[in-house]
Amino acid sequence: MKCNFCGCLDSKVVDSRQNEEGNSIRRRRECMKCGKRFTTYETIETAPVMVIKKNGARQQFASAKLRSGIMRACEKRPVPMLLIDKLVEEIERKIQNNLNDEVTSKQIGEYVMEGLKKIDEVAYVRFAAVYREFKDIESWLSEINTILKDKNAESKDKNSD
Ligand SMILES: [Zn+2]
Repeated sequence: MKCNFCGCLDSKVVDSRQNEEGNSIRRRRECMKCGKRFTTYETIETAPVMVIKKNGARQQFASAKLRSGIMRACEKRPVPMLLIDKLVEEIERKIQNNLNDEVTSKQIGEYVMEGLKKIDEVAYVRFAAVYREFKDIESWLSEINTILKDKNAESKDKNSD
């Protein structure tokens, strides 16, 4: 960063603060040469990620949509909004970090299920039912059995402590 006063290129950061949305950082810098202070703003650019849907159509990723899908699954469940927001953030981060500017809706669905499984079983089963489009009661039951088995295994682990 070039100093506003003397044009020197060396400066040190004395303070940095992220804005509330977390997409820009304000830095207070001090010039190494003249010692004067100036402020710079850095915007974190996130490239739009395209979601490839099952039918091959592409749509820009929207976290609001993801959020409402998760909220629908959590309806009337004792799931705090905070956890939903955290899950949305987590998934968003995963999508942004995959270095690809495309993600399949299938992958997003897997992320949601992975997260919901840890938060609320009913919400998880609901989401999975819509998402996996269970065609018959058999596959539906086997999914529920898997969850119950996992749960039993977990409580056994706890008991043996
Ligand atoms: Zn300077």
